[in-house]
Amino acid sequence: PGPLGKLFAHVEKIPGGQILIGWSEALVNWGRKSSLWPMTFGLACCAIEMMSTGASNFDIDRFGAGVFRPSARHADVMIVAGTITYKMAPRVRTLYEQMPAPKWVIAMGNCACSGGPFNTYSVVQGMDEIAPVDVYIPGCPPRPEALLYGLMKLQDKIMQEKITRRGLVKNEPRGISQGA
Ligand code: SF4
Repeated sequence: PGPLGKLFAHVEKIPGGQILIGWSEALVNWGRKSSLWPMTFGLACCAIEMMSTGASNFDIDRFGAGVFRPSARHADVMIVAGTITYKMAPRVRTLYEQMPAPKWVIAMGNCACSGGPFNTYSVVQGMDEIAPVDVYIPGCPPRPEALLYGLMKLQDKIMQEKITRRGLVKNEPRGISQGA
């Protein structure tokens, strides 16, 4: 069946031999997962591996995600690559809010997943304290192959989404907000 199997499930024959193709969220999701635009955004050492993922030998364009955008308003994927300090957290939340829906978040590396080695007063213990996270990629740092694997997991997740619900804000942040 392949990724568009659900779409073909909506092809019906009607009397007279014509074919009716019904509207399908599978087609919309396929378009979304095939044209992800990550934000150009890095916080610490994991960002070096994220930049490496954009190099030619890893070829992130195979997944339709090679167009890193310099503005949050043009991006739909935030790859949080690095340590999130409390000083930076409100800016990260602002950037998340500036991204148009539908949007997704990848926590890349131990710091973005859970604070990593920095269980200190100044470091947020995971991106999910700021905004909802779709995919967690452990590692210190994860290699580019791991980021590509996480991207593929996100694509799988997007294919399962109900597009009518996607425009809504998924969750409110648990502790960090603008002005905190
Ligand atoms: Fe640096 Fe490791 Fe934290 Fe990544 S997970 S930002 S490599 S300390």
